[in-house]
Amino acid sequence: MKNDRSHDLFTRALELIPGGVNSPVRAFKSVGGEPFFAARAEGAYLFDVDGNRFVDYVGSWGPMIAGHAHPQVLDAVARTMRDGLSFGVPSALEVTMAEAITQIMPSCEMVRMVNSGTEATLSAIRVARGATGRTRIVKFEGCYHGHGDSFLVKAGSGVMTLGLPNSPGVPAALADLTLTLPYNDFDAATKLFDEVGGEIAGLIIEPIVGNANCILPRDGYLQHLRELCTRHGTVLIFDEVMTGFRVALGGAQQLYGITPDLSTFGKIIGGGMPVGAYGGRRDLMAQVAPSGPIYQAGTLSGNPVAMAAGLATLDLIRAPGFHAALERGTHRLCDGLEAAAREAGIAFTTTRAPGMFGLYFREGPVKTFEDAKASDTARFNRFFHAMLERGVYLAPSAFEAGFMSSAHGDAEIALTLAAAREAFTNL
Ligand SMILES: *Cc1c(COP(=O)(O)O)cnc(C)c1O
Repeated sequence: MKNDRSHDLFTRALELIPGGVNSPVRAFKSVGGEPFFAARAEGAYLFDVDGNRFVDYVGSWGPMIAGHAHPQVLDAVARTMRDGLSFGVPSALEVTMAEAITQIMPSCEMVRMVNSGTEATLSAIRVARGATGRTRIVKFEGCYHGHGDSFLVKAGSGVMTLGLPNSPGVPAALADLTLTLPYNDFDAATKLFDEVGGEIAGLIIEPIVGNANCILPRDGYLQHLRELCTRHGTVLIFDEVMTGFRVALGGAQQLYGITPDLSTFGKIIGGGMPVGAYGGRRDLMAQVAPSGPIYQAGTLSGNPVAMAAGLATLDLIRAPGFHAALERGTHRLCDGLEAAAREAGIAFTTTRAPGMFGLYFREGPVKTFEDAKASDTARFNRFFHAMLERGVYLAPSAFEAGFMSSAHGDAEIALTLAAAREAFTNL
């Protein structure tokens, strides 16, 4: 695979940008080698600066659910930007966006736009703390909620694959306030709440864990957490930055029929522009400034161009059958990969939710973070590179979920499976 130009760019970047990248997982540290630099993207494909084309299963880490450079999204952005890039006063698109989110997510009676998922989760725990007057929060092993100080405690994803159990620069006094539970363990949650439930402001969870590969909740697990939070006056926060608008139009909360107190969003609602949002119960959200005392603000929050990209994307995914088709594609891909591995005699399994999936070099089933960690990551890394050589870009870490878009059709899936059949036999 030709990579002269990417190599030159990466060499220059390494001098100027920490690790040569603006977000750690892009550096390929986990899988080895050097990242390729994108030139453009269209539909299911990424094109790099050396002229290589890849079927893209990262989708900018989630936002590109309708495929890259969708004409309707680009048109909305082009139309909107001609009227100006930022106003610093309210605009109609922000009201339209708030109406869209609250309509799609009935648990969100009010919503506030921010600029990233990280900002959304930081703000949500501030609301939980401000509203309850408590300081402790609970998170789950393997879940990632952005890079806020309170969350960089045994985090998964980039932090885990970089081998940092938590980050220097996070004060111990703050980390102490974050309690960590094993995901999908009913008894551990019950025990913790029995002990300190009355001190816990908020419990935040990825309802489907997409940052420790892709782990689905056990039957009744999210309901169990809902009941514990209700009983102990703890704010239940669903971090749906990844799952929101993806695993169902109404996210994991719709898929599993759970009503969280607060939710966080990002990725898809920006359609590829920098966006986040948090919303939930009116009595909680009404405590956010300026209607209440809990402070949170943003110069570019509700940016018109970002709102236009997000709204155009929401329009596309509200089409009848959109998520059913996404789910069928995900199954076809994962079933095909499992069959190819079986033929090659490779221990391999997948997990899936509509539009997202996890790949594991081990026998199934995978139900916990411990199960996910027991995947043969060296083998995954060889598979990753073998697929890349054959024009398929998977997430460059054994601990990141893969993403499908509506642009991943029969041709792209066939191409992927043909590549996988070769790759599996060369591991
Ligand atoms: C990506 C992600 C975040 C962080 O969002 P950013 O926009 O990268 O700050 C938070 N939570 C989850 C579940 C995510 O997948």
